Amino acid sequence: MTNNKMYFIANWKMFGDLKILKSLNIVIKINKLRKFKHAKIIYCPPYTLLHNFVQKFKKTKIEVGAQNCHQLDTNGPFTGSINSKMIKNLGCKYVILGHSENRIEGEKNSIINKKISISLKNNLKIIFCIGENLNEKKSNKTKKIISNQITQCLKKIKNIKNIIFAYEPVWSIGTGIIPKSKDLYNNILFIKHLLKKKFKAKNPIVLYGGSVNPNNIKELREIKVIDGFLIGGSSQNSNKFIDIIKKTFI
Ligand code: PEP
Repeated sequence: MTNNKMYFIANWKMFGDLKILKSLNIVIKINKLRKFKHAKIIYCPPYTLLHNFVQKFKKTKIEVGAQNCHQLDTNGPFTGSINSKMIKNLGCKYVILGHSENRIEGEKNSIINKKISISLKNNLKIIFCIGENLNEKKSNKTKKIISNQITQCLKKIKNIKNIIFAYEPVWSIGTGIIPKSKDLYNNILFIKHLLKKKFKAKNPIVLYGGSVNPNNIKELREIKVIDGFLIGGSSQNSNKFIDIIKKTFI
C-alpha cells in the first residue's frame, strides 16, 4: 500500500439480483470496524442493481460504481446504453472503463478515451483497466501493450487524479492463475513510473485484478506497490470478499 487506503473493488459483472442485497449486511458491519479503517470498498454491480446498492450503502463509507457507460452524455437513440450523467444522477461515484471483457467485444482505445473524458467531465471517478492478453505476454509485449493502452486512452486527459488504474492481465481474469510476484511488482512499478513521467501523476493508485481469492491474497498482499484489488468472481460471495479484506490486513 503506497497510499493511505487499500482499495477493494467488487466487479459483479452480469451477476446478482434483489435477493442478494441481504448478504451485503456483513460487509457493512466489517467496514465499520476500526481495524479495517484503511479498506476502501467500492461495489460495481450490474446497472439493474445500482439504485439498490446506492440506497443500501447510503449511511456507510462504501461507494458504488457502474461497470461501463456510453461515450456521449446526451440523451439519444442508443438502445441498451446508459451515460455517465445518468450514472452520476443515481448517486454513483465511479465507473469501470476499459475492462478487457468489453475490449474483447470490440471496444477500442479511442472509444475508451472518449468515455474517460466524458465521465470525468460528469464528475465520476474512473476505474481504468489495462492489461495484456496471453499472446502478448508470451511475445514479451506486456509493457508495450499497457503503455499503448495508457497513452491512447488518456489522450488529451489533463487531470488524472480521479483515475484509479487496475492492472488486469487478461489471462488471469477468471482463470485462477495469477502472475508471478516478481512480474506483478515490475509491471505495477512500470505503470506508476509511466504515469509519473508522462502524466505528472504524484501518487497514482494502481490496483491488481485477476483471480484474486482468499487463497492467494496473502501472497498478493506482500507486493507492497499494489494499492488494492479489483475482484470479480470472489466478490460476489460476501464471505469470500470479507475473507480477502481480512487477510489483507491480518
Ligand atoms: C474482473 O472482472 O475484473 C476480475 C478481476 O475478475 P476475476 O476476479 O473473476 O478474475
